[in-house]
Amino acid sequence: MNPNAAIFVAGHRGMVGSAIVRLLKKEGFHNILTAKRSECDLTRQQQVEAWFNHHGVDYVILAAARVGGIHANNTRGAEFVYQNLAIQTNVIHSAYQNGVKGLMFLGSSCIYPRDCPQPIKEEYLLTGPLEATNESYAIAKIAGLKMVEAYNKQYGTGYLTLMPTNLYGPNDNFDPDSSHVLAALIRKLSDARDSSEKVVKVWGTGMPRREFLLSDDLAEACLFCMRRNIGYSMVNVGSGEEVTIRELAELVAQTVGFRGQIEFDSRMPDGTPRKLLDSSRINAAGWQARTPLREGLRRLYEWYLDRNGGKAA
Ligand code: GDP
Repeated sequence: MNPNAAIFVAGHRGMVGSAIVRLLKKEGFHNILTAKRSECDLTRQQQVEAWFNHHGVDYVILAAARVGGIHANNTRGAEFVYQNLAIQTNVIHSAYQNGVKGLMFLGSSCIYPRDCPQPIKEEYLLTGPLEATNESYAIAKIAGLKMVEAYNKQYGTGYLTLMPTNLYGPNDNFDPDSSHVLAALIRKLSDARDSSEKVVKVWGTGMPRREFLLSDDLAEACLFCMRRNIGYSMVNVGSGEEVTIRELAELVAQTVGFRGQIEFDSRMPDGTPRKLLDSSRINAAGWQARTPLREGLRRLYEWYLDRNGGKAA
């Protein structure tokens, strides 16, 4: 890819988009296009069309999405399905109309059936019912990846969908109600340490297993795939490192220096029991995640402290 290429990173302020922008800058790309919501609301078709018409875009990385943890997904399904369908439909179609050279759409491992064999291969898509807590989000993402496939088939575009596993990283949402588990635990357990609480309650049974990938590693996977023809329209991206929520909570407790007790609140939902991705497509092409969970967690905690003017444990 030419370092002068105009690359539109949609969602540049989010956890994934900001990691992609950091990496593109580091790699010498200097024509990175971003749009603030006040300049272009991606849910509004006319605004997206006008934005593309006024900017010469060569490549699009579609990292803009309405995202949230299990509770937000479970209680705000209407917002998740509407906003994601609107954003991806507008951006993918405008990119096509403007003849971009490449487009990358980002999905999520929750698109796969709840009870599918593990590790999950790309071909397990649509072979069984979805997990109920994130069905609206998953349906929107499935529509997006099918849109990418349909455009590739009908129009001969070489667009690609990356399907990342559970992500964490700088600029994640740390709101206790709407965040994903890793950010939620950093906040909960460091607050508990500061206020010398003896017991912290963590949602669910602690038994579900999750695979975690640092957003900076995902950004490397994106660039890796943009630079070559991977030969598929959909590729899983995981780290291969899987832990139970109990193990994760213990690791976060060690990282932030919380020495009290962790209890589980089984009135809150567990979600999918397990969703470990089979990443052999991208691994065979030569990409591997580089950051172990313990190290990524430490880095994210430092970022969190920096942000909040807190002090290390
Ligand atoms: P999921 O992979 O879509 O289920 O995304 P989450 O990151 O929201 O949740 C992962 C797992 O962590 C689920 O089993 C949750 O019940 C569990 N969990 C434990 N504590 C929390 C918390 O404070 N916030 C969130 N979001 N999940 C939690």
